[in-house]
Amino acid sequence: MKLSNYIDTPIEYLKGVGPQRAEMLKKDLNIFTFNDLITFYPYRYIDRTKIYSISEISPDLQYVQLKGKITSMEMLGQNRAKRLVAKFHDHTGSIELVWFQGAKWVMDSIKPGTEYIILGKPAIFNGKYNIAHPEIETIVANIQPVGFKALYHTTEKLKNRGIDSKTVGKFIKTALEGAKGKISETLSTDILQKLTFPSREDVLTHIHFPENSGQLAKAQYRLKFEELFFIQLKIIRQKLHRKKNIAGFNFATIGHHFNEFYHNYLPFELTNAQKRVIKEIRADMGSGKQMNRLLQGDVGCGKTMVALLLMLIALDNGFQACLMAPTEILATQHWENICQILKQLDINVGLLTGSTKKRERVKILDEIGNGQMHFLIGTHALLENNVQFKNIGLAVIDEQHRFGVAQRAKMWKKNNIPPHVLVMTATPIPRTLAMTVYGDLDVSIINELPPGRKPIKTIHAFETSRLRIKGFIKEQIKQGRQVYIVYPLIEESEAMDYQNLMQGYETISKEFPLPEYKVSIVHGRMKPADKDFEMQRFVKGETNVMVATTVIEVGVNVPNASIMIIESAERFGLSQLHQLRGRVGRGEYESYCVLMTSYKLSAESKVRMETMVRTNDGFEIAEVDLKLRGPGDIAGTQQSGVLDLKIADLVKDAQILQLARQCATEVLENDPMLTQSLNANIYQHLSNLGERKVNWSRIS
Ligand code: ADP
Ligand code: MG
Repeated sequence: MKLSNYIDTPIEYLKGVGPQRAEMLKKDLNIFTFNDLITFYPYRYIDRTKIYSISEISPDLQYVQLKGKITSMEMLGQNRAKRLVAKFHDHTGSIELVWFQGAKWVMDSIKPGTEYIILGKPAIFNGKYNIAHPEIETIVANIQPVGFKALYHTTEKLKNRGIDSKTVGKFIKTALEGAKGKISETLSTDILQKLTFPSREDVLTHIHFPENSGQLAKAQYRLKFEELFFIQLKIIRQKLHRKKNIAGFNFATIGHHFNEFYHNYLPFELTNAQKRVIKEIRADMGSGKQMNRLLQGDVGCGKTMVALLLMLIALDNGFQACLMAPTEILATQHWENICQILKQLDINVGLLTGSTKKRERVKILDEIGNGQMHFLIGTHALLENNVQFKNIGLAVIDEQHRFGVAQRAKMWKKNNIPPHVLVMTATPIPRTLAMTVYGDLDVSIINELPPGRKPIKTIHAFETSRLRIKGFIKEQIKQGRQVYIVYPLIEESEAMDYQNLMQGYETISKEFPLPEYKVSIVHGRMKPADKDFEMQRFVKGETNVMVATTVIEVGVNVPNASIMIIESAERFGLSQLHQLRGRVGRGEYESYCVLMTSYKLSAESKVRMETMVRTNDGFEIAEVDLKLRGPGDIAGTQQSGVLDLKIADLVKDAQILQLARQCATEVLENDPMLTQSLNANIYQHLSNLGERKVNWSRIS
């Protein structure tokens, strides 16, 4: 067999596997080749030098190693509950061992009275500890087991067919023994030396069969680094490739429209952060390459104005621009807001959504096509094929997390040369995750709020405070302020949630009666026109209270609103709570957010409430969110495939990720095509990865 091919051997050819077990390994564990097996890493290790006594067992112990004797064995139960139960003693007490399968084999091979070492996961049953299906080892003379024992995930089905963690370990041992001298290095000598990594062959042995904790730690470190390094390498290379090969429009001038607006009609002084990102983005749009940029900034930091100024630059360079928002409410609001701001200028701004009337639609499509319309604002209706611009140069996508990657890509096709794309998001993506998921986008960050904003005061309240809160709301309304009251709406319990919302609305309408108070309601089951009507009443200040579901979560801007009450707040995720809170504190007034919850809260809900009360900083909240939920749930990551990590953890290994990214950047800076002999290992491994697995190009 050729040296480089050994690890690509199909798994059925491994001694002890065979065709049937191979099928199961493929299906259940995704193990197709020797390489897949060798890189099937343990999920946990047991320190074999530690023997527990039975009296030490506690519920938080995941796995124990005990030493003692079996004193009795008997079959109990009927049919499916039938099981073999053995009593196991050491000098501190006794515990039950249970087998639901393979009782005959156990009875034949276990000799009561002989000393054994048993390994397993203790569980509580009927108030007593037991261990189901323990591993049993005979004690050889006086030799204590040494090193660490690796545990592997398998499935119930595999276990029933005799492939348990121990068997997987045996397969790996066989594969590794055969692989001696045949495992090729993946990193350059340069990196290996700089980071003092052991050889790849050594780390693969140590990750499965570590002799001590130091060896294990080193192996884990290198494998995590390697995994993240190659992901970063792919992402960065793709980005370089795009920059080099995809031409973009060159926005060279700042012209009449921009200057006129900037000097005469800008309603406020820009913050330094707004100025900085405009500069960054201008430089990018004037580089002759297509821009693909993420603009991150906490709620209320003023991203819309940045977008508008950039759209004016596009116009000055002879191009059209569009702004796409995730909801009709938000698109309409952007449109009204921008029309208002631009009213002194001769700029034609259109609005296109799902509910634009036919005649209006025809007119808009016409003007977009012949270039009479300069800016088009709308929902994903903009993506439809019949929306043909004369010459679009800039597409701004607001609140990216609501749109998929594919939709972003559609924007690219709206001109013969792809327009510059700016994606804006108020859901701060933690840096580590952004580096991986949006690794090929350039990132600009607005890290400053407009002056004079007072931090929103957030309190966590229970049913008992309702009366006091009601009094407070009345006081605020008396001072001219407005109030949001938001109810959860979760798909699975939609009917119940609507009921709660309507009941809430009724109660509130009674407590805040006409003619003194006016209450609006907006939810997803209303017709768009009705929704819009109610929303407009609130925006114009004609109603005092807005009862709503999360349809108002994103972007809605009513600076006069000063209180956000969130009902059943424990049912919302952190980023959603932060978004909702961001609807207030948008004007000059002191603002408040009240998180109403029941008394009984899970530990996680408590952390969420405490975090909201403690901080207004979206990035800090996003980090906590990532820790609580794990990266899989963060918006936008599911489709990317990025999170199929074998060993690294984006939350815990943020530092390794940083290092990996830095190393990958250095390598590509010196050798963009990876053609130097120094990087031959890296190049080879990268192409192997390309053949073997995930299609990283899905990340855009
Ligand atoms: P977001 O970044 O959440 O989309 P918006 O663009 O909606 O925020 O801006 C929030 C509010 O702040 C708006 O009322 C906007 O007019 C105002 N604003 C934006 N920039 C400034 C600024 N530099 N100074 C004062 N107010 C600003
Ligand atoms: Mg916004």
